[in-house]
Amino acid sequence: MVKTSLSLVLATRNPGKIREFERLFQSLDPGTEWRLIGLESFKMPDALETGETFAENADIKALHAAAHTGLVSLGEDSGLEVDFLGGQPGVKSHRFSPSGDDHDNNELLLHRLRGVPRDQRTARYRCAIAVARPGEVLVSGQGTVEGLITEEYRGKNGFGYDPLFFSTELGKTLGEASDDEKDSVSHRRRALENILPELKSKLLEIQRE
Ligand code: IMP
Repeated sequence: MVKTSLSLVLATRNPGKIREFERLFQSLDPGTEWRLIGLESFKMPDALETGETFAENADIKALHAAAHTGLVSLGEDSGLEVDFLGGQPGVKSHRFSPSGDDHDNNELLLHRLRGVPRDQRTARYRCAIAVARPGEVLVSGQGTVEGLITEEYRGKNGFGYDPLFFSTELGKTLGEASDDEKDSVSHRRRALENILPELKSKLLEIQRE
């Protein structure tokens, strides 16, 4: 049987995120041939992430990529919300410390939570996704994964805050989890799962126009 083929620009230059989305589309919808095109294939300025929420930034990235490529584009914004810190680092997750380096971000997080008891170290990763065509957001949604911030590094897998993020569902940090284990609970998986049926029907409608 010939698979339906659907194309999307992924509004990111991060090869790790492109690989993660390729894995997720394939596992959530193996019956469709998803063609994902990263921004490295296009010459354009970076979007200005001026939103105050993940959802606003996802819209900004999707609309910016759609305006510059003329194609349907997926924007994603994600990060860590720590309850004891009033939801920080939030939309500033990738630039929490002055350098914005993963190691410095993690050290600052440990410092800000020093002495805080386990039951007050609750946190979640949140991911917002928006898909837009030029001038119009077609579909948007979010996903979260709940956890606790550990007191020391555990595991070397994943990226960002993963070695300090203990997933209550997996019973281990995302630094200790395999790709498949992380994909099974991740905030990106859940956001994509939430929008996938509506996204497919909108893309098929556009193909027919
Ligand atoms: P973005 O690239 O603007 O979406 O920034 C996302 C930032 O949030 C990353 O640089 C990480 O610091 C953090 N983050 C988001 N998702 C994850 C994840 O799955 N693991 C670890 N850190 C994450």
